[in-house]
Amino acid sequence: MTTPRTALVIGGGIAGPVAATALTMAGIDAAIYEARSADPASANGIGGSLALEPNGLAALRIVGADDDVRAAAVPITHSTMSIANKPGREMPTPQGLGPRQLIDRGALHRILRNRAERAGVRIHDAKKLIRVDERPDAVTAHFADGTHASADVLIGADGVHSTVRRLIDAEAPAARYLGLLGFEGLVDDAPDTAHLEPGTMTFAFGRRAYYLYWKRPDGRIGWGANLPSPQYMSLREARAVAAEEWLDTLRTTYANDVPGARLAAETTRETLQAVGGLHIMPPVPHWHRGRMVLVGDAVHAPSNSTGQGASLAMESATQLARCLRDVPDVPSAFLAYERLRRPRVEKIAARGARISHAKAPGPIAARMMRLLLPVMLATMNVEKTMAAEQRYTIDWDTPLQGDAKALA
Ligand SMILES: Cc1cc2nc3c(=O)[nH]c(=O)nc-3n(C[C@H](O)[C@H](O)[C@H](O)COP(=O)(O)OP(=O)(O)OC[C@H]3O[C@@H](n4cnc5c(N)ncnc54)[C@H](O)[C@@H]3O)c2cc1C
Repeated sequence: MTTPRTALVIGGGIAGPVAATALTMAGIDAAIYEARSADPASANGIGGSLALEPNGLAALRIVGADDDVRAAAVPITHSTMSIANKPGREMPTPQGLGPRQLIDRGALHRILRNRAERAGVRIHDAKKLIRVDERPDAVTAHFADGTHASADVLIGADGVHSTVRRLIDAEAPAARYLGLLGFEGLVDDAPDTAHLEPGTMTFAFGRRAYYLYWKRPDGRIGWGANLPSPQYMSLREARAVAAEEWLDTLRTTYANDVPGARLAAETTRETLQAVGGLHIMPPVPHWHRGRMVLVGDAVHAPSNSTGQGASLAMESATQLARCLRDVPDVPSAFLAYERLRRPRVEKIAARGARISHAKAPGPIAARMMRLLLPVMLATMNVEKTMAAEQRYTIDWDTPLQGDAKALA
């Protein structure tokens, strides 16, 4: 298999448009096939906001989308952590890096799709991949509407419930439900949040559940809830439940929290967005097979506690394009890509899994956490724990040939 000239990118969420743009920049003709019938930007995907870390912004710089994202985002300049209603403690941040950027998911989709189209990528909506045919010289994707498309390689950027993952390996693990359902709401400012500067985000371990809130430039308070629930619900199932029912549950869950009780009380059915079950991907044994490869959540979805899912997806998307650009045959390019990405994403996933336990603790674990977290925060070595994650960049301009680690 020689250097590919064409690529089918399955999924037009975050990894898909970034991969397709980077592939086009690498001289590979790329087209995106997205399952949703409506433009995912207007459908707003799974909804809500998304925080991008400096390493995600660095990956976006490679494809020329970082400035547009910054222009549409809110910089988070301060982060605090609050446990059981204690006043928020400032969380240390690595020195010399820009702030994380909080952006509406729909706005991010729009920017990434526009950027891909400007690069010459064709985007086909309402194309749900159902199966593939593999031949020695090409791969053909078959879609639910009866159409098909062929190319030299197929990139599975189809998210945490990836179809491509199962086509690569029928025994591949499925995403694991974290026991938490996600929600986002919006309320007016009030005395209990009036002291916060715009751009401040608070991670709050409430009496019964975790939540986070931030002050927006318009002074209103956005907040996200992670509701413990043994019962898994997809996005569609969660949205089929009446908003009033969810609001009742949220108001009971956060009744003893400040400002959680007010955030839940003042959120209305119009400002509540249900996101559905939160997932992580266990390590995936096979990242690629033949002419097919995985990128983004399809192969490495860390817990949302890491704040790194989208940023890692952007990194992998650009690194994959770099490998296909520089390594002259497809299997070796996929191998180099996996070697460069697997250790980093699995390390971050392991960190996230540890934090997620703290979000849905049993009563004893909750008490322990209240005692231990302040100590952990006070003794945390930010440069060691966070800086390596956030300072990371993909060296797009350097040909891979010199990277012994990737080509070993
Ligand atoms: C509540 C919540 C909050 C989060 N917050 C953050 C955060 O603050 N920061 C962060 O970095 N990450 C966050 N994440 C994680 C982040 O959303 C993901 O890591 C990111 O969306 C991964 O991008 P992706 O392109 O790989 O997958 P997705 O964004 O899921 O995109 C996959 C796309 O593939 C399409 N698709 C699926 N199947 C098919 C098919 N068979 N054929 C064609 N198309 C298909 C889907 O319709 C979708 O458009 C959060 C996740 C959740 C659930």
